[in-house]
Amino acid sequence: MDTKSQELFRRAGLHIPGGVNSPVRAFRAVGRCPRFIVSAHGDRITDADGNEMIDYVCSWGPGILGHAHERVIKRVQKACEYGLSFGAPTEGEIRLAELIAELVPSMEVSRLVSSGTEAVMSAVRVARGFTKRDKIIKFKGCYHGHSDGLLVKAGSGALTTSVPDSVGVPQDYTQNTLVASYNDKASVEALFLANQEEIAAVIVEPVAANMGVVLPKDGFLEFLREITKKYGALLIFDEVITGFRLGLGGAQGYYQVTPDLTTLGKIVGGGMPIGAYGGKGEIMEMVSPLGPIYQAGTLSGNPIATAAGIETLQILKEDPDIYSRLAQKAGQIAGAVKEVAGEKVCVNQAGSLLGIFFTPSLVMDYESAAASDTTRYADYFGYLLDRDIYVAPSQFEAMFLSDAHTQEDIAYTCRTIGEFLSSII
Ligand SMILES: *Cc1c(COP(=O)(O)O)cnc(C)c1O
Repeated sequence: MDTKSQELFRRAGLHIPGGVNSPVRAFRAVGRCPRFIVSAHGDRITDADGNEMIDYVCSWGPGILGHAHERVIKRVQKACEYGLSFGAPTEGEIRLAELIAELVPSMEVSRLVSSGTEAVMSAVRVARGFTKRDKIIKFKGCYHGHSDGLLVKAGSGALTTSVPDSVGVPQDYTQNTLVASYNDKASVEALFLANQEEIAAVIVEPVAANMGVVLPKDGFLEFLREITKKYGALLIFDEVITGFRLGLGGAQGYYQVTPDLTTLGKIVGGGMPIGAYGGKGEIMEMVSPLGPIYQAGTLSGNPIATAAGIETLQILKEDPDIYSRLAQKAGQIAGAVKEVAGEKVCVNQAGSLLGIFFTPSLVMDYESAAASDTTRYADYFGYLLDRDIYVAPSQFEAMFLSDAHTQEDIAYTCRTIGEFLSSII
């Protein structure tokens, strides 16, 4: 007999492409039927068949406090009573912008949008408008949302499905997108040399988390800071995942490298749809209505989403020890993998972001990530799912820890991963 999830997936396929509203959710890379979720609390997520699973996807990052945190839910409920959307400014937006500026000082002035995609798209427009240049450099395997110009050698779902470039994006739209290799200074230098005075910005995930988790080599981010300055280009940190995850100050605080523009998403919305982009006033004053760069949004700064974001940041701010707790838990899982698999599996960790690659080589860029054994990953995924542990349904996504993960659940996860690894090694 079919499970409820199987029935729902069949029904979903009739009116939603592939049955899902974002491709990786379809579980194609791991050859499974996706679980349809009905609720989530703390570190557990429950599907339509009543399976309660320990969740390491955390809604792809926003769930740093765990699901349905009592304070966030209360604040959202309260906000709902006042009305869902006004299309006019609210005090909540000021509060969120103040919190962002306080925690991420380089974002002195920021604008709220409704997704990470929108934030990045807008930041790139600002960089181009400010520098009056057209070209940008991105890195192979870094994902910056699905806007046309950035869907080149992207990570995440685009990597999982082996179609880094999407059909439907005119060549013209990507001709100004130059692609360098992550952690490879020479590849960046070469592009600057060949396109002097033409590069508006370098955009990078300061910790790449959309080709699995790939850490910047020592000095790589500092190098990007220097070379952009040297050529009069802006440095954009896409901190949609790393923002408020590696620490209150994001990756720029963690690595002490300050970009010109930053994009946020995921955690900043506390589980609701928000993105943000920002930088120094001098740059951001180019944005409409102050300046000539147009960018707008009907639901931008939505009061309910803003309420969820404010409460989430407030909780993080009140409890900065959360980051050492998170890193410690991720370290336990990383340690458990190493203990059984030794050098046969590569584990990359930055705080509460974990990447477990089924390859004996060090993963430091797109090529080394892509060399992973994805069939092995599918086996690993299935083994864990059958034991009520829900990890990303793709080798090329991060494992996310939340403050709600209990010691018991971490211990069970370590044991189960250990069992799987012993069975294949
Ligand atoms: C998720 C993500 C995006 C896109 O955000 P959406 O809210 O999915 O549009 C952009 N950049 C990075 C680094 C991301 O991880």
